Order: sequence, then C-alpha cells, then structure tokens
Amino acid sequence: MLLCADIGGSFIDFALVHPDGRLEQRHAVPTPTDDAETFITALQTLCAPYPGVPLHIAIAGVENPETGHVHAANIPGICTIPLREQLSLRTHRPVRIGNDADCFALAEARFGAAKGHRNVFGLILGTGIGGGFVLDGQIVPGLGGITGELGHAPVVIAPPLMKDPDEIRATVPLFPCGCGQSGCLDTIAGARSLERLHLWAGGQDETSHTILKLWEMGDVQATKTISVWMTYTSAALAHILNVIGSTVVPVAGGLSNSTLLVQTLDRAVRDRILSPTTQPLLRRAILGKDAGILGAACLGPELCYDPC
Ligand SMILES: [Zn+2]
Repeated sequence: MLLCADIGGSFIDFALVHPDGRLEQRHAVPTPTDDAETFITALQTLCAPYPGVPLHIAIAGVENPETGHVHAANIPGICTIPLREQLSLRTHRPVRIGNDADCFALAEARFGAAKGHRNVFGLILGTGIGGGFVLDGQIVPGLGGITGELGHAPVVIAPPLMKDPDEIRATVPLFPCGCGQSGCLDTIAGARSLERLHLWAGGQDETSHTILKLWEMGDVQATKTISVWMTYTSAALAHILNVIGSTVVPVAGGLSNSTLLVQTLDRAVRDRILSPTTQPLLRRAILGKDAGILGAACLGPELCYDPC
C-alpha cells in the first residue's frame, strides 16, 4: 500500500493506493501555498493514521535532483527547502516526488490509454503545454529534473510583419512566456495562449472553448487560428516523436476535450514524422483526475510494472 498525494495550487488530493491501482480513503484538503511549515504540517496530518507507509507526491513543479528544492510556481512557500528530505523526516517514512505531467504520463502508461506500450509520451494540452516521457514504465529522468517539457523552448522565431491570414504562420509575434523566454510553444498552444492568438489574428476576444466550437462549425477566423495552432503544435510534437520514438501519445488537458482537435493533431503529426503509420498515435487520456495520484503511486518500485 502507498499514500499518494496529487498536489495542486488549490487542493491536495490524497488517497491510499492498493497495488492494483485501487484508491481508498480519498479526500482533499486545501493546499497551504505560502508557508513551508504549514504545508509540511498538512501532509503530516494526512499521513499520521498510516505509520511507515511510503508517501508519493505528484506536484505541479520540478524537483532539482542536486538541491532537492522543488520549483512550484503555484506553491511559492516550499521552493527554498529540500522538500522530500523534510517531509521524510517529519512524517517518518520514505517520500518520493514527481512532476504532475510526468505522473500523468506514468499513470496512462501503467493503467490508462497507453497501457501495453513501452515508449510513451504523455501530452497535456491545458492552460499550459506539458508532457512526460515514460520508458518501460518509468519516467526518464533528465538534466535538472526536466524531461518531456515540449512547451518551453522557442519555436516562434519570425517577428511580426503583417496580418495577411495566409502569412500568419510566418508572422506570429514573439509572445513572452512564463519561463522567461519568448516564442515558446506554450505561447501559442496553451488555452490562454490560443485565446490571445485568436485575438491577435482576428481581433475576436473568445474563450478557448468557444474558439474550438467555432472551428468545429467551420468559422473562417477560428479555422485560421487553429491552423496556426496546429502548425506549431504538430511541428513540436513531430520533433519529439522523431527523437524519442514513442508508439502512443495519451493526451489530456482542457483542449483535449475536443475529439476533433486531437484527431486533427494526430493526422498532422503523422504527416510530419519520419516513420509512416496508419495507426493513430494520439489518443485521449482516460484516467482523468485519477492520473496524478496513480502516477505518483508508480514513482517507486512498489507497484509492479506489467507491460501488457
Ligand atoms: Zn517558455
């Protein structure tokens, strides 16, 4: 048995996880975001009824493997302490921490839409763009704790020249990104970025949900906006898949609620990768809100990996 917590900026989703992935005693408490002591105390309280049971955490942040510091933009209070070490000391148990996008990919690879595949890239098309790379049922660790982050490296390099619809692809502005760079895929493809792109391209202020609905109905301006979105997103994903060779891409996040968007992106990506395949690579994730907790459960060796 494991204790698993999916820690977001608002709530800690907590449960006891059985070896077969069943969840028990699931409940949520508010996330203390500003103060490390309050944060640790909250987890201490959640763990107290289960002495010695290992604690695994999925968090919207990245643990630096050298310092142990967890950079979590939504929980600034914990960024300057070696979180795993402190939690282990205070709760008297082994603690593992994983990035939430990594945990999502891990869960879908073990229990979800990518079960049975050895090489999995999990893609999140949400408020931001994220990803996780899983090989043989394990996260592939990377420099500074980073892998799978296709959202953050500049992909837009052309300065704005004109707004002729046919030239929008080449003239998308270098929007600033939250990571400190400009022109990242995240500045085009995240839900808020899609709204900004739509406003920039056609002067229409719509939600991402409305833009997708308009696109699905054949609206001319939404079609142009999604065409730009598709061009950049499929290019970035094709790069990733040519490098790591994943055989399946489970897709989650709010934008993935549009089945047509996922199907269209799948076709665009398959048109741009080196290995031709008639089988869809992208498929909608199936674990929903359970992915964080189940992925956290897979961070250690406690749950056996069954590739079938
Ligand atoms: Zn960025």
